[in-house]
Amino acid sequence: MSASSTQIKAYIQAADAVIREHAEEVAALDQAIGDGDHVANLQRGLAALDSITEELGRMDWSAAFQKIGMNLMSSVGGASGSLYGTLFLAMSKAMKDKDMSLPNLADAFGKGVEAMKQRGKADLGEKTMLDVLIPVTNALRQAAQESWDLPKTLETLNQVAETGCESTRDMIATKGRASFLGERARGHIDAGARTSQLIIKAITDVVAKN
Ligand code: ADP
Ligand code: MG
Ligand code: MG
Repeated sequence: MSASSTQIKAYIQAADAVIREHAEEVAALDQAIGDGDHVANLQRGLAALDSITEELGRMDWSAAFQKIGMNLMSSVGGASGSLYGTLFLAMSKAMKDKDMSLPNLADAFGKGVEAMKQRGKADLGEKTMLDVLIPVTNALRQAAQESWDLPKTLETLNQVAETGCESTRDMIATKGRASFLGERARGHIDAGARTSQLIIKAITDVVAKN
């Protein structure tokens, strides 16, 4: 089953728009406890994806995720580039010959996040994007297992993403650049957690409208 190009385009444009709207905020977060490039890294990746939406729309989901992952790996750079690349490559593998459905998406996203954990040798509670993505994976799995309706699923995904993002504020970082700061990282939200949460919000808003 092919991923329609209007659908893919809408997701990529929504992600691009939300990151643009919050560019200053995100830049400030990465400046506070990182090297300040996170928003520029992501914008480079989203621009690369925007230029291939037509092509992506002609592929099935597995092939589209593979192409997205490879593009992010080569365009984003930084820790987030290889991690997001890893997410989509693992999702591609899991979606091989599968249709898009909530159980298949939950399974693929779960495997993608698991691959990210291994790649970055990180887990919950280390002040990274995983503090958003792991709770989102768990909520997706629960939604699939318990056959939640779409509004409840989308609302819960956003709730756990927001809570996860906010939870990074009081943590010290044990992975990534912020780990060099020790206690001084406390009091700042992690930039990657914030952008993950923003992109999840943007994508679920598109899903809600369709
Ligand atoms: P860099 O830190 O190389 O400049 P970015 O600024 O683009 O890369 O991305 C930084 C974000 O990557 C952090 O805010 C954090 O969420 C995430 N991150 C860094 N290291 C890891 C890791 N080992 N596992 C998971 N996420 C990580
Ligand atoms: Mg950075
Ligand atoms: Mg950097």
